[in-house]
Amino acid sequence: MSQLIIQDLKVSIGDKPVVKGLSLTVNQGEVHAIMGPNGTGKSTLAKAIAGHPDYAITGGDVLLDGQSVLAMQPDERARAGLFLAFQYPSEVPGVTIANFVRAALQARLGESADLDATSYYKKLYEKMDLLKIDRKFTSRAVNEGFSGGEKKRCEILQMAMLEPKFSMMDETDSGLDIDALRIVADGVNKLRTGQLGIVLITHYQRLLNYIVPDFVHVMYDGRIVRSGNKDLAVELEARGYAWVKKELAAASA
Ligand code: ADP
Ligand code: MG
Repeated sequence: MSQLIIQDLKVSIGDKPVVKGLSLTVNQGEVHAIMGPNGTGKSTLAKAIAGHPDYAITGGDVLLDGQSVLAMQPDERARAGLFLAFQYPSEVPGVTIANFVRAALQARLGESADLDATSYYKKLYEKMDLLKIDRKFTSRAVNEGFSGGEKKRCEILQMAMLEPKFSMMDETDSGLDIDALRIVADGVNKLRTGQLGIVLITHYQRLLNYIVPDFVHVMYDGRIVRSGNKDLAVELEARGYAWVKKELAAASA
């Protein structure tokens, strides 16, 4: 069984510590939601794991099936089985989705494996049918003039095609309307087959009305301060983050 272990991870931006010792274990097939107020380091965590050069890892480790990914380039991390949505360019004018996904898949397979057009399109159409994506969509240029919902559809399609072991999705886009939330939720639910492990980062409790996570974690000031099941998300919705803050202050007093 595959396992992603984030071990006492510390991340700085410049000389400012942002992620301050975060640990999380995700098993194959599990959906973990990480929630928390703005500025708490959720996106920093995701970007650091993706290998973004501006985010310096100053401590801890990230292990995929026992092997550290920290020394790997972003494309090597993808080949190892990590899917990180934002490692892809936000707009690729003139490159169709079909060609873009094909290049990503070819890169994932490595040079030795050849991806012939027939089997590629067969797989692409299978996934599109599964996700109920219109075939016309594949001839559009990547993210060019896309709505929030279309960007999400493109991201989910890439995820379906690449068949990663673990996927980290940062759903904090301010442009994420209810339509886009539904697309993410439907996609995640369709791809939730017991093979894929998902870390879903969100500050929208309402996304979790559509995706029922196996575990919910509250991140605050660079750490996970509480973990529970889906009921924790409901409690957060009802009581807000101020409640967590107050409890932490009381505990440290
Ligand atoms: P969240 O996703 O939880 O809202 P972020 O990870 O985006 O939080 O931000 C955590 C902290 O790091 C904030 O104080 C933010 O201002 C700071 N930060 C994030 N990105 C950068 C950056 N590129 N340069 C400088 N500071 C940043
Ligand atoms: Mg964020």
